[in-house]
Amino acid sequence: MDVGTRGNSKELFERSLKVAPGGVHSPVRAFKSVGGTPIFFSRSDGAYLESVEGTRYIDFCQSFGPMILGHRDPDVKAAVSDMLDTAWSMGACEPYSLELAEWITSRLPFMENVRFVSSGTEAVMSALRVARGATGRQKILKFDGCYHGHVDSMLVKAGSGLAGAVASDSAGVSDSQETLVAPLNDLPALEKIYRERGKEIAAIILEPLPANFGLLIQTKEYIQAVVDGARKEGILVIFDEVISGFRVHPKGMAGLLGIEPDLATYGKVVGGGFPLGCFGGRKKYMDLVAPSGPVYQAGTLSANPISTRAGITTLRKAEKLGVIEALTKRTEKFRDDLIGRFQKVGAKWTVSSVGSIFWIHPIASSPIRSPLDFPPNLRADFPAFFHAAVKEGVYLAPGAFEVGFLSWAHTDEILAKALDGLERAAIVLKK
Ligand code: PMP
Repeated sequence: MDVGTRGNSKELFERSLKVAPGGVHSPVRAFKSVGGTPIFFSRSDGAYLESVEGTRYIDFCQSFGPMILGHRDPDVKAAVSDMLDTAWSMGACEPYSLELAEWITSRLPFMENVRFVSSGTEAVMSALRVARGATGRQKILKFDGCYHGHVDSMLVKAGSGLAGAVASDSAGVSDSQETLVAPLNDLPALEKIYRERGKEIAAIILEPLPANFGLLIQTKEYIQAVVDGARKEGILVIFDEVISGFRVHPKGMAGLLGIEPDLATYGKVVGGGFPLGCFGGRKKYMDLVAPSGPVYQAGTLSANPISTRAGITTLRKAEKLGVIEALTKRTEKFRDDLIGRFQKVGAKWTVSSVGSIFWIHPIASSPIRSPLDFPPNLRADFPAFFHAAVKEGVYLAPGAFEVGFLSWAHTDEILAKALDGLERAAIVLKK
């Protein structure tokens, strides 16, 4: 059972450094922005992670979002176990993904058709292709401060001119002439791009709740104006709900805002902790996807039965128990309690939340809606807090710009323990 788990975190990380770039298979796991050696975890259970050293941590990272029911939820486990005894991957038509597709299309009115893929990145890549196919236009407009996976054309940030070509954010990606970048929460700048370049733009893609660079909560009026402006220019609107979907509201941010996109992308919660993503939207656009239409898209493991069974079991349970609504309330109380604890120890930090997503950051003079609003001490002061929290048995996502997640397994009792630990950790923030 313990194959590969022998050794402490330090020893395992040294071994990993020899076989994987930076010792990891996704960058944030390397603890680069908080320093120190990454903890190696060998078990997960409900709200807890257990390190190879046998220490248990209350986990607010929750695999960066998929585990809305907590780790190894018993009902999801039963469904997956049953699927393990039934079929793994067949590369053929099967009834399991059909159930999840019917569930999604019956709950989200704008998701008239859906296609399953294996990650959020793939979902975004495919949705962009559909938008280009549908409009015959080449350019994609994104926001500085929104993350859409490691799709080449999305690894860009604003260059010299707002509406000009932009330079790539990653080596190995050609400077994209196809992606335009707009600043968040700056309507005049966006309207200028719409005016000057609108007819070249196939789609605007946005996280309606930007949650990959802190939690940059936008106003409903702003998102509405973004969408209205796009529609005037014939630009398709893609909501990237990989983080927010099935978490902040049963219908995601689209439901919370009451705004429907043309296309949308999902990942994380939709697969219940297994590799799954999907993209979809209006049938007239999705009809363009192969084999119905000319936009090619395919995948050997697409709609994997284990993942789709985990996903449908998660979503059904969440709906039946009112998990999303209850978690929103639980997170609001946790947020307010944590703010109280920060005040108690004199730390000038606070917490923002939407649904069961929260972000811990220094107090700012006005709402933080774009990377331009970040308090200057955020990046420098977070690492000490992160490590102090670890010492108290609380595992936050290892980065100042990463959000945290509550799961159904985070009971009031566990949250009370976490608050005590985070209060003691917050002493290091008292400057
Ligand atoms: N879009 C958003 C909004 C995301 O949050 C993420 C992942 N953090 C992605 C796309 C990429 O998803 P994945 O990591 O599953 O490829």
